Amino acid sequence: MSDALLSVSGLTRRFDVSKPLLNRVIEREDRQFLTAAADVAFEIRRGETFALVGESGSGKSTIAKMIVGLLEPSEGEIRFDGKGMDFASGSAMRALRRRFQMIFQDPFASLNPRWRVGDIIAEPIRTFGLLRGAAIGAEVGRLLDLVGLSASDAEKFPHEFSGGQRQRIAIARALSSKPEFIVCDEPTSALDVSVQAQILNLMRDLQDEFGLTYLLISHDLSVVRHMSNRIGVLYLGRLVEVAEAKRLFTEPQHPYTQMLLAAVPDLALSGRRRTPVTGEIPNPINPPPGCAFHPRCPHVMDHCRTDAPASHPTASGEAACHLLAPSRAAAQTAQD
Ligand code: SF4
Repeated sequence: MSDALLSVSGLTRRFDVSKPLLNRVIEREDRQFLTAAADVAFEIRRGETFALVGESGSGKSTIAKMIVGLLEPSEGEIRFDGKGMDFASGSAMRALRRRFQMIFQDPFASLNPRWRVGDIIAEPIRTFGLLRGAAIGAEVGRLLDLVGLSASDAEKFPHEFSGGQRQRIAIARALSSKPEFIVCDEPTSALDVSVQAQILNLMRDLQDEFGLTYLLISHDLSVVRHMSNRIGVLYLGRLVEVAEAKRLFTEPQHPYTQMLLAAVPDLALSGRRRTPVTGEIPNPINPPPGCAFHPRCPHVMDHCRTDAPASHPTASGEAACHLLAPSRAAAQTAQD
């Protein structure tokens, strides 16, 4: 039996990016679509941290927003705790929203500047009717203490805190509805380097204490390596590799993953192929045919330009590359 808390399959999101023309209705066939996520499938196991990585525009945040119900998929299914998410049902989505929360990149933008910290943290408790009266204040104090702040901070406003402290407030707010699953969207990228480790360590401690499951969205591979059990690598809205974190950093299978890791000096692959980062990300409105990575791939073959690669099993996951097709892999082994 699968121990997945969350699974997505065939997850696709298209945005209509047609430019309106004066006095002209755009015909369906003239419309332009940007596919931010294409046929994405993965699962997140209870209690683990699954990270999605990729360059800007890879679709990470679009996928996160679909998972927390802020954006409706164009196609595909999201299942949480065995049940499909029904975007058309307000009551079903409301019940789910208590069970998962989101921590955003910029804690200042995500906290209402006109509200006292106590009201910010209490809002989910009130919205979901979890506690009443004086018990709410006591719970807010407990949550502030849990994230390393003081109960008296409930009376202050967000601008009275540093960036790291504001992210602690955002974490306390996320915990207040007693969620099982938290989407962490670049949770430390707006913070000073010296504060990042403190926030990441706090997130790990809370995960251990409450058995939380995290989806971590990040472009920072050092953060991902520090936090994740398994990692999915996205390129132009497509999942190109999924692997256990340790394996991904020591034996990346997809040429794009190798390129991403080679770009970070601290993570340079010892004794392995180091593929230089080359080329620009193609226009997502008009992605390359075949393997979308082929214009940048140092191992490109003729059929990469026409045939999209299927996903093939790897030592700890899967990767979508023609080099990993069983016939090709067998030929490579024979040559070695
Ligand atoms: Fe490179 Fe071809 Fe693999 Fe794409 S399918 S990553 S172009 S080798």
